[in-house]
Amino acid sequence: MPSLFSRIIAGEIPGAFVYRSPRWVAFLDINPVAPGHILLVPVQEAGLIMQLDGPTLAEMGPIMAALDQGLRRVTQCDAVSILIRDGAAAGQEVPHVHIHLIPRRQGDAPHQFKGDRYSDGAMEFYRQALEQAMRT
Ligand code: 5GP
Repeated sequence: MPSLFSRIIAGEIPGAFVYRSPRWVAFLDINPVAPGHILLVPVQEAGLIMQLDGPTLAEMGPIMAALDQGLRRVTQCDAVSILIRDGAAAGQEVPHVHIHLIPRRQGDAPHQFKGDRYSDGAMEFYRQALEQAMRT
């Protein structure tokens, strides 16, 4: 069964589109954190970023940057939060990749992304393991 976002892309469910190309679309989030909140969505129906095909991934960065610029110009915001919940345990509710672009203003509550220091040796363990993963 197609995902909610595939149905929006197909026109079965209304969407307020701000951008369309063969591989990517962008439309307004129905429950915006702030007015102008955009969802950038690949036409390829994949749940995780790592499942996207090469050409789709290659286009992601430039489109995201252009939307970021347009959002700043239109909303006159002070900053933009760009967020991907890449899997259900990260809070992803719709299992079809989507990138949130949210206008932010001075004084907005910051996102909670502060953690604790690593225990002895753990940072080097993860550094080595991740560096190795990038080679394979
Ligand atoms: P997630 O929590 O998966 O990162 O984000 C899903 C987003 O999809 C939410 O911000 C939610 O408001 C948005 N959303 C859910 N249903 C619809 C819909 O039918 N149309 C639009 N435009 N956005 C939706």
